[in-house]
Amino acid sequence: MKRRKEKRGMAARKGGAGEKPRTGGDILAHRAFFLDRDGVINYKVAGYVTRVEDFHLLPGAAEAIARINASGWLVVLVTNQSVIGRGLATRERVDEIHRHMLSLLAEKGAHLDGIYLCPHTPWDGCPCRKPEPGMLLQAARDLDIDLGASVMIGDSDTDLEAGRRAGTWLQIKVDDGFTLGDAVERVLAEARVVDDDRDMEGGAIRG
Ligand SMILES: [Mg+2]
Ligand SMILES: [Zn+2]
Repeated sequence: MKRRKEKRGMAARKGGAGEKPRTGGDILAHRAFFLDRDGVINYKVAGYVTRVEDFHLLPGAAEAIARINASGWLVVLVTNQSVIGRGLATRERVDEIHRHMLSLLAEKGAHLDGIYLCPHTPWDGCPCRKPEPGMLLQAARDLDIDLGASVMIGDSDTDLEAGRRAGTWLQIKVDDGFTLGDAVERVLAEARVVDDDRDMEGGAIRG
């Protein structure tokens, strides 16, 4: 795919809030990093994160998100929270955990542009639980995101599958040896190459 940097840049210069010109395409839409939560932003725990005390940022995660913030891309959390559907934590508890997450991120100058969560269980058959793409599609509508120029980062194959089904440009798997920070640097570098009008094959990247 080819990105169209000039038009994007023009739009950014013209773009008064609330009066973004629309031309029926997604040239003017935002690019986003869609991030899974556990294993990407915070440490996984045995079982589920059901308490604020269970939530600990991974080293470098906040800095990586701040780096995205500075790049102009959006950062959107897309997280399966079947803890709610399973009755292991209330929605209020999960929101409390997320407020804690946001405060930890803010300490490093990082913020999220959106939080989407699926409260359902695997047997609910909902359209939002990853690997279904529902959360990404909803965020794209809400936040005017160009999915084909965006990236899904997760630590599970179901994350990558959700990104693929949503039509994201890249799907990247992170682990202990290839962290969110590594992924962000790689994406921004590759996006620069594409912006220089060279073709870039989309697909999956594994650390
Ligand atoms: Mg995960
Ligand atoms: Zn759901």
